Amino acid sequence: MSHIPELVIANGIVVNSFGRHTAHVVVDGGKIQQLLDAAQPVPEAQHTIDASGKMVIPGGVDGHCHVAQVTGRYRTLDDFQVTSTAALWGGTTTIIDFGIPRDAQESPLQAILHKKALARASRCDVALHGAVVQWDETVPWQLEQMATEGVRSVKMYTTNRGTTMADGDTILKVMREMVRLDGLTYIHAEHDAIVADCTEQHAADGLIGIEHLHRTRPGLAEEISVKETLAMAEYAGAPVYFVHQSTPGAVDLVSQARRRGQDAYSETCPHYITLDDSVYAGRFPEWYACCPPMRDAQTVSALKERLAAGAVHTISSDHSCYDLSQKRERTDDVRFMPHGLPGVETRMPVTFTAMLDAGAAVEDFVEVFAAGPARINAVPGKGVIAEGFDADLVILDPSESRSVDGNSLHMGTDFSPFDGLTLRGWPAVVVSNGRVVLDADGFHDPGPVGRFVARNGFTEHRDAVAPLSLPAAPFSAVS
Ligand SMILES: [Zn+2]
Repeated sequence: MSHIPELVIANGIVVNSFGRHTAHVVVDGGKIQQLLDAAQPVPEAQHTIDASGKMVIPGGVDGHCHVAQVTGRYRTLDDFQVTSTAALWGGTTTIIDFGIPRDAQESPLQAILHKKALARASRCDVALHGAVVQWDETVPWQLEQMATEGVRSVKMYTTNRGTTMADGDTILKVMREMVRLDGLTYIHAEHDAIVADCTEQHAADGLIGIEHLHRTRPGLAEEISVKETLAMAEYAGAPVYFVHQSTPGAVDLVSQARRRGQDAYSETCPHYITLDDSVYAGRFPEWYACCPPMRDAQTVSALKERLAAGAVHTISSDHSCYDLSQKRERTDDVRFMPHGLPGVETRMPVTFTAMLDAGAAVEDFVEVFAAGPARINAVPGKGVIAEGFDADLVILDPSESRSVDGNSLHMGTDFSPFDGLTLRGWPAVVVSNGRVVLDADGFHDPGPVGRFVARNGFTEHRDAVAPLSLPAAPFSAVS
């Protein structure tokens, strides 16, 4: 007697970053067992979902999430259960969180082990980035241990003096270690002296409330820091990834470096392609407190064009769950308020809508939403619908649109910066590790089944694994 597979998603338009075809996706044991051309009969299964007329895309990989993050006196209000549940509601089946030392007493390795333990409550798969604030002679050994733990990237901040900022010596030394360990350096790039001076000047003039946030952190500060960091990466021969780029100039610097042969990557976030700095003159400016801040409308539309044209490699939420009581505590002074926006649940529709409106194809959306983040972060088994990959799948009806209601979302907070926007690209069905966790009946909590995903080496993955994720399409294309 032959084995009957657990699940078949029949007749859907399967969209990978490299193309689309109508197919039946056969799922068993948490893996994609087979893709059958839709001309063939639907195979028997324990559970069949008909996806006729709908798209089936790989589950989202959100490369930039902060879960249970402690920064100074503020702690985000979520945990892995809440964030992973919200991620699944939003079509994301893998999140990558950061182990950032909470204070000078916590080492980078301790921060990773702490987050790894917390992540056992996760409903979806989890990977981690490390972080280094201050170089010392134990750092190389700690980074080796982190690599052994499956953590192959380290984030450093060029700003946030006194909390997370790393100095130039630290950044350069860590970059060199990451080359040795075949890992990736993540950079939050804002020129600290410019940001600090600009903030001080505004404070001296009494212009330091939330309505002035965008003026205290100019795009110039971001771009000059990207430029400097690219030079350091070139000198160290290190691949480098810039988080949350918010200006077309910053993205262009990465494009130019790539043309010179550098391994550099650009990430942006849904808010930087959707919201402009007029939000700081609106009714709820505190909803939009984040670093970098929103930019002017012209910058936002130029950034969106870069994204639609393929110059941005990933789109991540930079999810940070503070609530309005935290956000409102110090609206009089941007230096003392918590920065960061909730977004793991809304990344899919916000990005889908912005990209398609800007003329991109759904394939381009899949690239920055799932395939690119999986490939660049060397997360095995993710981001592609093909035999042998993890059964992380999302069904969406591209014609359906819905408005964001901040009160009905599932993140550990009480607002959404996208509240009221009408968006396309909401997930109708979400399959995580072969389980249907979201469908028309709502959310089916799988319990704490999320796995910790150990990441491959950066070049190891790029050279060996990634080409296998681009199979020659064996099916006829559909338009
Ligand atoms: Zn962040």
